[in-house]
Amino acid sequence: MNPGGGAESGKHRFLAAARLPLPLRLRIWPLHMTPSDLRVRFLDFCGPVKFRKFARSLVKLSDEPVRFDRLRYWQEMLWARFIARYPDAPSDVNDIGPCLHWCDVHDAPLLVGSGHQPVDLRHSESFTRARESEFPHGYGWLGYHCPACRTACIQWIDSHPAECRMLQYRIYNAGWVVVHRDDPDFQKTCRDGYIPWDEISPGDEIWAIDTGRGFSGIGPVRNGRLVPIMD
Ligand SMILES: [Zn+2]
Repeated sequence: MNPGGGAESGKHRFLAAARLPLPLRLRIWPLHMTPSDLRVRFLDFCGPVKFRKFARSLVKLSDEPVRFDRLRYWQEMLWARFIARYPDAPSDVNDIGPCLHWCDVHDAPLLVGSGHQPVDLRHSESFTRARESEFPHGYGWLGYHCPACRTACIQWIDSHPAECRMLQYRIYNAGWVVVHRDDPDFQKTCRDGYIPWDEISPGDEIWAIDTGRGFSGIGPVRNGRLVPIMD
């Protein structure tokens, strides 16, 4: 009987593990599939729209470094079907996340930070199509974005003023607004246009706007830019 045998054999097991070559001590998934392979196959498997939704839904908060959330139910279902076809794909979200939290257009990881979000962008079908195909991770209030998408979004808006410009034409210039600011008629115009009258400052102009979403109205413009109206 050896009273110290248990501890001794435990120690031996530890030492034996420590002597293993480094790759065998790490939990490495893909045995055959690289992150790039995984992206290509998953993109082919589910298409770009679902791939991008999957990429964006992998995280809950804008943490730096990124922390991956658990898979949502719809992601689990999709991933189960993917693994059925590709059994060597990873199953842990912390292995999946770094591979798929990715921009498929620019072949680059998504980074903390928002997309481009101008308040005076007129929405249009052509912008929506360009966004889908050219800068899917570059526009809007996103926790994560692709810098190349963001740049592409800015360039597309700059090069398509007819589609993107919400401001249509000036109704009242700054001088007129200063003189007539307290007129009841002007106050009524503001009320009808959902403009907070008391937030209009000297120098502001009033412009006709077209949001591209079926609403046309008026808006205050300051230094050439539409002033965002806060509720
Ligand atoms: Zn991108």
